[in-house]
Amino acid sequence: MSDSATDDGRTGDGTRAVRAGLPEPVKHEPTLPGPVFAAHFHLPGEVTGPYAYGRDDNPTWTLLEQAIGELEAPGQDCVETLVFASGMAAISAVLFSQLRAGDAVVLPSDGYQVLPMVRAQLEAYGIEVRTAPTGDDAQLEVLDGANLLWIESPSNPGLDVCDIRRLAEAAHARGALVAVDNTLATPLGQRPLELGADFAVASGTKQLTGHGDILLGYVAGHDAEAMAAVRRWRKIVGAIAGPMEAWLAHRSIATLQLRADRQNATALTLARALRERPEVTGLRYPGLPDDPSYKTASRQMRRYGCVVSFTLPTRARAERFLQALRLVDDATSFGGVRSTAERRRRWAGDPVPEGFIRLSVGAEDAEDLVADVLRALDASAD
Ligand SMILES: *Cc1c(COP(=O)(O)O)cnc(C)c1O
Repeated sequence: MSDSATDDGRTGDGTRAVRAGLPEPVKHEPTLPGPVFAAHFHLPGEVTGPYAYGRDDNPTWTLLEQAIGELEAPGQDCVETLVFASGMAAISAVLFSQLRAGDAVVLPSDGYQVLPMVRAQLEAYGIEVRTAPTGDDAQLEVLDGANLLWIESPSNPGLDVCDIRRLAEAAHARGALVAVDNTLATPLGQRPLELGADFAVASGTKQLTGHGDILLGYVAGHDAEAMAAVRRWRKIVGAIAGPMEAWLAHRSIATLQLRADRQNATALTLARALRERPEVTGLRYPGLPDDPSYKTASRQMRRYGCVVSFTLPTRARAERFLQALRLVDDATSFGGVRSTAERRRRWAGDPVPEGFIRLSVGAEDAEDLVADVLRALDASAD
């Protein structure tokens, strides 16, 4: 059995995840070849073939890119995927390769915390930046005359969701390209390219690789010209993934469906338990049927992610809660097999209340995790 057996778009997610990007079996060779450490490759005579210099291509990337492509766009051979050193490298590659001075771009006003810095850089290059919230498809109202629409759904950390298909159709009707940050959902939770986006972009640092030990990013897209510009940007900026990181990512993708199903199911259980607590306000989880995101999320998402957001009454209460947790590390990032939580307001970027907690549910047993969170809520009470 080869990868061609799993890329017809009909196999299950678990099957696809364990076989994604595997090369044809070769006698005495490993199933997933090890990382190729090479700055340059033997290249006698003319420059032909893909592997010449390590900033341009690497066989370990090739297999990982194939794997991610099979998950983002099963059965669509025309999709090209490029891996990067981090999610920000991937995001910047799309924005800075596609936009020129005089262009206009629409960003979410409630997106990833580095986007305001990206905005300042885009503006310094003479690009007009407009922002609108993710919820209620509010980006629709600022689309006229834009060249690129940047969507982040669900948004981090507010977990608002927008109707990707609706926004993509409106953007395309105005001649704008559409990129979706798919970090929170992972390709098993949402497939932006099938929903009409031109680019699916993500940080592989989070649930995609899921062990909190590597940074990685990728861009997947089906427009050959647009992807050539993204590839060119990777070459000139050189924000490339190390072979070891790429290999670890590929190894980790084999368990993506197992991890996501476990973590996401526990996230829903935890959200349900938090809903019963009087000190918890602003609880958000897109998979909770009474969440404001649920209606749209349930139409376009296949899994709802492992992040739960909520607000405790004060900063002090939130800090005591985080200290009282035993199974949840006070740390940033999300998506790992070990639960993490943080008071998001400690970072400058997010306009959230002082007591706002972003909790990333790991692969612990649900009973243990819920008990720990409820105990820490009790222990942190005034
Ligand atoms: C973490 C994150 C990024 C940035 O990814 P890095 O790998 O840290 O560079 C971008 N978008 C979202 C939604 C994220 O959560």
